Amino acid sequence: MQPIHVIGGGLAGSEAAWQIANRDVPVVLHEMRPNRTTAAHKTGGLAELVCSNSFRSDDREHNAVGLLHEEMRRLGSLVMRAGDANQVPAGGALAVDREAFSQAVTETLTSHPLVEIDRGEITALPLASWDSVIVATGPLTSAPLAAAIRAATGEDALAFFDAIAPIVHRDSIDMSAAWFQSRYDRTGPGGTGADYINCPLDRPQYEAFLDALLASDRVSFHEWETSTPYFDGCLPIEVMADRGRETLRFGPMKPVGLTDPHRPGVKPHAVVQLRQDNRLGTLFNMVGFQTKLKHAEQVRIFRMIPGLERAEFARLGGLHRNTFLNSPQLLDGTLRLKAMPQLRFAGQITGCEGYVESAAIGLLAGRFAAAERRGETPDLPPLTTAHGALLAHITGGHMETIDAGPRSFQPMNVNFGLFPPLDKSPSRRTDGERLRGAAKAMAKRRALTARALHDLDCWTGGCVMMEAAQAAALVPTPEIAPSAESHPR
Ligand SMILES: Cc1cc2nc3c(=O)[nH]c(=O)nc-3n(C[C@H](O)[C@H](O)[C@H](O)COP(=O)(O)OP(=O)(O)OC[C@H]3O[C@@H](n4cnc5c(N)ncnc54)[C@H](O)[C@@H]3O)c2cc1C
Repeated sequence: MQPIHVIGGGLAGSEAAWQIANRDVPVVLHEMRPNRTTAAHKTGGLAELVCSNSFRSDDREHNAVGLLHEEMRRLGSLVMRAGDANQVPAGGALAVDREAFSQAVTETLTSHPLVEIDRGEITALPLASWDSVIVATGPLTSAPLAAAIRAATGEDALAFFDAIAPIVHRDSIDMSAAWFQSRYDRTGPGGTGADYINCPLDRPQYEAFLDALLASDRVSFHEWETSTPYFDGCLPIEVMADRGRETLRFGPMKPVGLTDPHRPGVKPHAVVQLRQDNRLGTLFNMVGFQTKLKHAEQVRIFRMIPGLERAEFARLGGLHRNTFLNSPQLLDGTLRLKAMPQLRFAGQITGCEGYVESAAIGLLAGRFAAAERRGETPDLPPLTTAHGALLAHITGGHMETIDAGPRSFQPMNVNFGLFPPLDKSPSRRTDGERLRGAAKAMAKRRALTARALHDLDCWTGGCVMMEAAQAAALVPTPEIAPSAESHPR
């Protein structure tokens, strides 16, 4: 059997290679690091996490990315296996020791007999003898390949900005001002309820911090960058500050769900949270504090935060440009380039956003390519699953603007807005009482996630067994029936 070629050994490419090899199809994974690197990667390891070490919420019942975690686990994901095995405490989130995680992925793929790892940069597309290729080169695709993709797709690369948050040495944080606590004392996977370091600001301190941010010296843009928009989920703090004096207090500096044990009777006006970044617990990242301030300005302004007056920074924040395709126009339902079907795309370059989403799209691309190679028809996940909803957003769910303005497709984290509505939303508790407000919203989320996992199990063949077991009254009937809305199989 001819191998499938996967270009890019990041989150998506590593997961794709794993899925292919586990379907008994040989795969060559091409990764240019460490010979050539990007502006954000630091190592030669596969699946390197370039910024935060968090896979975000692991709540599979009420959170769309938590649901995506669970679906990936059920689909045999390598990224989730390595993430679960290397988690560090992070409240309700799944955060990982980034080095151990990358090492686990690298070792697993290196030792797989059907995986060959080629450490070289790919600069052209398509290569003559390669009849099945997955391009998973991510937001920092090297320049020659980006030019080749532009030529193959007939597009200008669309770009936006992501920014990186700073990382602080734990022993430089003054714990007589700061304290450990997770918001609302949530424990989550492997957490204690006290996983974040919190730095409180009173009103004058917050106002002074804001004034410093507003007057700060920022990295200037190149001319070609000035019209590039930000991804809304990753706004630099100074841009948030520009949007209004209260914006940060309702965003990364919100003081809710936290009590300062040093002054229990005084409610902080704002709080900066830091999350453990490595297993040793020696590094903490400033949550939501991505920034494009000049480095000297970051040190000066962040040391105004109580508890961080003597902070030593292991890494300062930074700014990068992202590249992604207009996928709804260019890709078919199984992520193939319509104009060149031997090329498939996966990961962030398709217009999903986030580590987990990139890996999930890699997982699907790997399954689709392997099925094709084996002479089978690729099987699309039901739209009601997180995988199906995300795939549909990328390949066709997005409504293009109707005027002739700039294209409107934007990268998106997985969220419940991408899921088809429930046939019937839950309105009462099991005891008959009417659901209201937050309880109603939570019940709706539970119904969406129960439907997703049921439909996913059916998709993978598991529901035949589940329904047989239900018929034999071995397991309780799920509260929600499967939806009729799903992709054709
Ligand atoms: C600076 C930055 C910060 C980010 N922060 C976060 C965050 O905190 N949380 C989050 O969830 N997401 C974040 N993202 C977004 C996104 O989740 C990550 O970029 C994620 O790694 C994307 O996965 P991927 O597999 O598509 O790309 P990557 O993980 O970047 O993998 C692409 C791989 O392709 C290789 N490559 C590139 N060009 C070539 C070539 N020509 N030949 C061979 N190999 C090549 C690269 O070396 C890299 O290993 C960030 C992105 C960037 C750029």
